[in-house]
Amino acid sequence: ILQQRIHGTTLEINLNSLTHNYNFYKTKLLPMTKVMVMVKAFAYGGGAAEIANHLQQLKADYLAVAYTDEGVALRNEGIKLPIMVLNPVQESFFQLEKFNLEPVVYSPQFFEQLGKYCKSQGSGMKIHLDLDTGMHRLGFEPKHLKRLEELIHEFPDLKIESVYTHLAGADEEEHHNFTLHQLETFLMMSQKLSDKLNYSPLRHALNSAGIVRFPEYQMDMVRLGIGLYGVEVSGKYDAHLRSISTLKTTISQIKRLDLGDTIGYGRKGVMKTDGQIATIAIGYADGYDRRFSNGKGFVEIHGQKAPVIGNVCMDMTMIDITGIDAKEGDEVIIYGPGISLKELANRIGTIPYELLTNISSRVKRVYY
Ligand code: PLP
Repeated sequence: ILQQRIHGTTLEINLNSLTHNYNFYKTKLLPMTKVMVMVKAFAYGGGAAEIANHLQQLKADYLAVAYTDEGVALRNEGIKLPIMVLNPVQESFFQLEKFNLEPVVYSPQFFEQLGKYCKSQGSGMKIHLDLDTGMHRLGFEPKHLKRLEELIHEFPDLKIESVYTHLAGADEEEHHNFTLHQLETFLMMSQKLSDKLNYSPLRHALNSAGIVRFPEYQMDMVRLGIGLYGVEVSGKYDAHLRSISTLKTTISQIKRLDLGDTIGYGRKGVMKTDGQIATIAIGYADGYDRRFSNGKGFVEIHGQKAPVIGNVCMDMTMIDITGIDAKEGDEVIIYGPGISLKELANRIGTIPYELLTNISSRVKRVYY
């Protein structure tokens, strides 16, 4: 691993831990239930191609990406699994077809555009219908069902592989009843559609939190995301998951400073005692959030916590290592097993999803 460290900052991905998490979710599912894994946003920062390849070996049933080009990139890496594209644009219809990607269709207008495109090409496409049961993001609403039935009839070349909904608050107890309402609305809407078809599309609704909190609604498939990457957002099974990624960097320089000395841009860091700071090779351009500035964030050196001092810079961050025995070149852990991503995210008012997906492309990913 160290030999591959060509840039000071590395994201190490433990594929065995990923397998462990995948198998943990499988224990919540019936043997027949299919698993679609969300590998959008560079597989939540972990690297889409490598993780998709691993999932292919684990015999996951489906992958999902947000945009068509994410799917094209996976196909170019030789990924053969079916791939659902959550939010394709009209301009990408040609690529969807060429790369055998399966778009989500979420409105009557979009259905019609895609249907007409396929007619003009004399081709067909496998599609997935997004039903809006309360997320109010994308999706057909109950009032669209009648029109949807007409469109299904008009464009039989669009083969509905699955029908799904997305839960707005599956991770939180306070939204329990709302979630149940979404799930029941979905069952009702999907049943109405199935009655009009002479085949049965897969039905799916549960994300990671949904799988652990509402397994009785697993239906034909689930959509696993953040849990695979090691974060159990509902908190119910925190101890059962393994962190899959460790973000590491190194100390570039150590300085001895005096009480009152200021550090970094805007001179926001101030030494409270005589002591030592270390400059580490990670900044906001690597995805180390600038909101970690001035004590909001901490890192670990030889198992000891060191707070950020001053403002996070583009490529570097200064940390207060007063009282810590460290030397230049030493390893610094930004996060990994033992450092909770939820806690880190909380400190800056965000969610683990954002921390994971913000790790920029210049950070070297290493798999083991
Ligand atoms: N399904 C859809 C439509 C999503 O957009 C996402 C992620 O945002 C997921 C499933 C997976 O959610 P999670 O990462 O919380 O498991």
